[in-house]
Amino acid sequence: MSKYQVYYCSHCEVKFAVDQDFDDHAVIDCPLCHDDQYLTDAGEAVDVE
Ligand SMILES: [Zn+2]
Repeated sequence: MSKYQVYYCSHCEVKFAVDQDFDDHAVIDCPLCHDDQYLTDAGEAVDVE
């Protein structure tokens, strides 16, 4: 089971998840616009596979 932190980019209107094991969340940016200024924290998600 993996935990993810979900981010939402209001510029691209896209949600994406980052594995919480990836610890450098300070450098996360949007995979589409490669910018972090539009990102908001959308909560946690858990992969139950
Ligand atoms: Zn974006």
